[in-house]
Amino acid sequence: MFSSLKYLPSIFYKRDPLQFTFFVTSRCNSRCPFCFYWQDRKAGNDELTVEEVEKISASMGNLLWLLFSGGEIFLRRDLPDLVEAFYRNTHPVIITLPTNGLAPDLIVPATEEILKRCPESAVVCKVSLDGTGDDHDRLRDTPGSFEKALETWEQLRRLGERYDNLQLGINTVFCRENQDEMDRIIDFVNTLPGCETHTISMVRGNPADTVYKEIDLEKYRRAVLRLEKDLKGGNAKMYHFTLARLKTAQDLVQRRLIYETVRQGRRLLPCYAGRIGAVMNEVGDIFPCEILTDKMGNVRESGYDFPKVFFSEQADRVRAKINNTKCYCSHECYFVTNILFNPLMCGQVIRQYLELPGTSRAAS
Ligand code: SF4
Repeated sequence: MFSSLKYLPSIFYKRDPLQFTFFVTSRCNSRCPFCFYWQDRKAGNDELTVEEVEKISASMGNLLWLLFSGGEIFLRRDLPDLVEAFYRNTHPVIITLPTNGLAPDLIVPATEEILKRCPESAVVCKVSLDGTGDDHDRLRDTPGSFEKALETWEQLRRLGERYDNLQLGINTVFCRENQDEMDRIIDFVNTLPGCETHTISMVRGNPADTVYKEIDLEKYRRAVLRLEKDLKGGNAKMYHFTLARLKTAQDLVQRRLIYETVRQGRRLLPCYAGRIGAVMNEVGDIFPCEILTDKMGNVRESGYDFPKVFFSEQADRVRAKINNTKCYCSHECYFVTNILFNPLMCGQVIRQYLELPGTSRAAS
């Protein structure tokens, strides 16, 4: 029921969403100036309830990858109930939970509850670290956030000793203010006990302060090549879920493609957002991705019937626009499906796979 293999036909037939992102809240206890969701930070009124989410998820098919986003997702005290509703109804192979790590008292018990209630899914918890020490606090405009993130990390790491379905990683937003600190950040993350992945996400969307987007692309390239070197040299770890090596190989292809996409300023791969990927915000609006503001519809208005929105004429118009405008972006999550479900990318992924430590070719 939770197997990834059943999604293989989507390499050729892209009909149903298999990647779904749910923005559970726009509330946040941090004030990162590079956040792409800052305009939506509201009081939290009118968020979808557990009962509503139960009905929406029951109308959906199975999912390969379920991501939660926000805001700070753990500010929703009912997060385990929301995750469980999706788990029961859509059987996600992977569930991703990002957090700023600021509230260990909320994050750790909720994560444990999710691990207990979703035993068949790989639960990936990603903690944000955008600098070391005071740099992190300054960047996030939140004093004490580095220490809190480390406290959360340590408690999650201990949780990982008891729950094999927990996978832990660090995410760093790459922006103008930390682009010269990447080696220091990577060195630090490499020493973090229990860390199974370190991702670097290029700042995206329309942050409150656009100066953070003025990055030096060559510095991004150096940082991601450093991650690749550490991984292939055995100095960095990989997730332990089934097919994690395939995901890691995809990451390596993805980072190079993101660099090239931004450098060339054009789409290099077809985008499957709105076809095998969809996004729902906290009030039930459905979008093809996190970046486009073209709404496909609202699930509250459709009687909590997700297919009615996703296969509507309005949704077709949004898909046609994506196709016709050939929009492009650097959003890592969409590169994952755009690479893994594009038959033309198989060769590159396999090549990277064979270069990972532990494969016979890499070992020879
Ligand atoms: S290329 Fe980016 S902005 Fe365009 S549809 Fe895909 S994910 Fe959205």
